[in-house]
Amino acid sequence: MSVNLAALLFLVSAVLFILALRGLSHPSTSRRGNIFGMVGMAIAIGTTLLLAQPSFASLIFIVLALALGGGIGAFIARTIPMTAMPQLVAGFHSLVGLAAVLVAAAALYSPESFGIGVPGDIHLRALIEMAIGAAIGAITFTGSIIAFLKLDGRMSGAPIMLPMRHVINAALLAALVIFVISLSATANPVHFWFIVALALVLGVLIIVPIGGADMPVVVSMLNSYSGWAAAGIGFTLGNMALIVTGALVGSSGAILSYIMCKGMNRSFISVILGGFGGDAAAAGGADKGDRNVKMGSADDAAFLMENATKVIIVPGYGMAVAQAQHALRELADVLKEKGVDVKYAIHPVAGRMPGHMNVLLAEANVPYDEVFELEDINSEFAQADVAYVIGANDVTNPAARDDKTSPIYGMPILDVDKAKTCLFVKRSLGSGYAGIDNELFYKDGTMMLLGDAKKMTEDIVKAIE
Ligand code: NDP
Repeated sequence: MSVNLAALLFLVSAVLFILALRGLSHPSTSRRGNIFGMVGMAIAIGTTLLLAQPSFASLIFIVLALALGGGIGAFIARTIPMTAMPQLVAGFHSLVGLAAVLVAAAALYSPESFGIGVPGDIHLRALIEMAIGAAIGAITFTGSIIAFLKLDGRMSGAPIMLPMRHVINAALLAALVIFVISLSATANPVHFWFIVALALVLGVLIIVPIGGADMPVVVSMLNSYSGWAAAGIGFTLGNMALIVTGALVGSSGAILSYIMCKGMNRSFISVILGGFGGDAAAAGGADKGDRNVKMGSADDAAFLMENATKVIIVPGYGMAVAQAQHALRELADVLKEKGVDVKYAIHPVAGRMPGHMNVLLAEANVPYDEVFELEDINSEFAQADVAYVIGANDVTNPAARDDKTSPIYGMPILDVDKAKTCLFVKRSLGSGYAGIDNELFYKDGTMMLLGDAKKMTEDIVKAIE
């Protein structure tokens, strides 16, 4: 295949990737977006193979690897529960990071296969690219593993604060820069492995102090890093499609991090410096004492909702755990039949990954025009008769609005307490992901409906019918 034709095909795949991102930005176009992405990837892989013209033996290895990777990917995609999606995404990011390190190592030990020189005499530009690519890849690898462990609950979600961590991180970063320079000057593989080792440690140290409600930014930040790592590999391999794809993922992840920071009213720097919610769990459990809580039943909720004019539903992570989205749609349907105005309010960090609630509601065929973002619906709670909070907690916590000492102070919340009645469906009076007690449970206008979100919603539907 001619280089020009390959460049044209890479351009087509890059355009398809952009269309894929555009499509994935809304549930109604996401299927089409996925198809664009798949076609773009098929073109990129096909073009790369035709351009490289591997030997028959290599081709067999490539096909086997594609079949094995594709098979494992398809199996995971089919079997993974929706609730495990965030940690799965973190796990996949770690693989991108690892791939970047391995490709850089392959290029270092076999530069002639990459057309970047011979062992011991590698082009300077290639050395710089592989050093930076390997460093970002190794940071992404261990950082994503820590994020996976935190999101999967195998490691505490709370920040872990090492003494003098900023000094340690700065020293590691300085050492990393020195080894990048020395590798570029000497092409000595030992320096390469120093870079990898330092970056692996840095990846752990950057992510462990970030926790609690800051985790959404970690997920999007690692998404961004994995993109830059892929772009780094693209430079090493001289593959334009990989450079463009990596840059797309890197920049869209960076934009997502910005949106998440804005959603929580946090600066990116303060997130990176970590420590958010460190003492929150302790603070949360502190003074629950014998405070009064108004408990209700499915019948009480049914009565309040069928007599309401306007109900706003606020889904959160608990809805995902209970897989209550279908029951919730049914509840909305029966209420609408009775003439109640029903809307859904989505907080940008609700659930455990960006867009988590939108995906679940789309799966249950909730009409898109009933689903609203925080800034578009918050003022409507004051006119609502009922706010039906189903498995959400942190995103409604008024401490973020009213309590200057709270670790989440400043994060915009859904003003569910402004509705006439706030119905809270959850299994206990326990805290949410950030580990902070929610004052709302003890307010006069709140009725707690303790139980599993799906079961409770189904019971309410039965009671209304
Ligand atoms: P929260 O984690 O604050 O609260 C979820 C609530 O759901 C819990 O308090 C839990 O209470 C309840 N719950 C769990 N299982 C069930 C069930 N089966 N039935 C009924 N209730 C259930 O969720 P929010 O969505 O309000 O907030 C998201 C939090 O996660 C924020 O702190 C955010 O920063 C963080 N986060 C978000 C990410 C993102 O990208 N969106 C990524 C990582 C973290 P109980 O145990 O009493 O039932």
